[in-house]
Amino acid sequence: MKTLSETTALTQLKKLKTAYHEFIKIKYEHNAKSCLTCETQGVCCLDAHFVNVHITKLEAAAIRETLGKLSEEKQRRIFERAKETVEKYDLKTSGNTFGQTFACPLFEKGVGCLVHSDAKPAPCISHACYEKEADLPPEKFQEQTENRIERLNKRTYGNAFSWLPIPVWLVNIYAKDFEDK
Ligand code: SF4
Ligand code: SF4
Repeated sequence: MKTLSETTALTQLKKLKTAYHEFIKIKYEHNAKSCLTCETQGVCCLDAHFVNVHITKLEAAAIRETLGKLSEEKQRRIFERAKETVEKYDLKTSGNTFGQTFACPLFEKGVGCLVHSDAKPAPCISHACYEKEADLPPEKFQEQTENRIERLNKRTYGNAFSWLPIPVWLVNIYAKDFEDK
């Protein structure tokens, strides 16, 4: 397998995610409820019985790049929120990690998803509220996208850094900057 530099992989990841976002928007989202007028905005990101979104190390790097445009104070707040989330929901890095659920620390009240435009995870791109089950995007499209992300991740970092819950990766990527400072 040909290896990739992180910079190249991040560029390819961005292209892949943008294409998936466009595809979902054009083909499916017009049948979904509008998030702009939703009376329970954010419940989809904060429902700790439901959210179990996992990302790879490469997506964590993309999220870090996006959040890097915010002030240091805001980034530190996100790091603290991620740490609290890992503790509160006792998120583990081994075993059935997909069985663990949490309120996503990337949701900011009044703003929404902090990585919406540039680094949204594939399950979040796929997700919307549909009245009819028949209108939902078939899971195979998300699976294809996640397989491509996984391949990019492996070509960049090898096999050791794969899928973990968002808060776990957030703590990992920010720890060296903010831990005990
Ligand atoms: S995905 Fe659903 S719950 Fe979440 S903001 Fe949009 S309409 Fe509301
Ligand atoms: S990454 Fe964004 S869209 Fe996905 S659960 Fe977190 S706040 Fe919501």
